[in-house]
Amino acid sequence: MNSFSYKEYIHILDLLQDHYPIMDYNEVGEDTDRFAVIRHDVEFSVERAYKMAELEARKGIFTSYMFQIRNNAYNTFSIQNIKMIKEIYQLGHKIGLHVHLGMLNDISGLKNYVESDIKSMGNFLHIPIDRFSYHRPPKEVLRKELSLENYINTYDKKYFDFKENDQDLEHVRIKYIADSKHRWNYGYPSEDLLKQYAKVQLLIHPYSWTEEGYESQKNFEELIKEKESIFRNTLKSETKHYKE
Ligand SMILES: [Zn+2]
Repeated sequence: MNSFSYKEYIHILDLLQDHYPIMDYNEVGEDTDRFAVIRHDVEFSVERAYKMAELEARKGIFTSYMFQIRNNAYNTFSIQNIKMIKEIYQLGHKIGLHVHLGMLNDISGLKNYVESDIKSMGNFLHIPIDRFSYHRPPKEVLRKELSLENYINTYDKKYFDFKENDQDLEHVRIKYIADSKHRWNYGYPSEDLLKQYAKVQLLIHPYSWTEEGYESQKNFEELIKEKESIFRNTLKSETKHYKE
């Protein structure tokens, strides 16, 4: 099985389902003693997020798709992307903001920054945006444990065990598993790992995953090809003087 293939992802989902109730963030209460929550931070490709959302929905699994509004790889507010994100929502998934902190000047303004970006997103998309995750959060941001009345912080104590020291990550109440940088730095979601923990948050970046399953560099090359073809189509539809 190629790693980072859809087949492998389905296998991981099956394994999770065997070990936990897969829950939405809003179903986890203070006294929930066993759960897995799954979120997807969308960094580069709404198209790949859409494919993953379809794959999960076919299995009856519903997760959270978090989109950026300040990155340079895709425009969350383009007509095509709004259409796809709405379809992801209609499949039964939740939609949230993946907070890019690049325009935050002072950490004391974090609350307003997040709230204002979520509201902007809701104004464009006209679907509920009820949650957020940080993009590459520094420790000072996690330490703040921002709690907003109307929005779920996926780094809330209920779903994430913040540790000042990385060596303490071995002793967490909630296991955080992520495929960041096309690697499993917090451990691979294997049977052996899962049976050690009653609570899990799984972060999967859709851009890393394809039908074929590629190693990191090849995956980027394929992603670039997809983006190129999207841009060519845009030129075609926006101009008459672009020749293929
Ligand atoms: Zn991110």
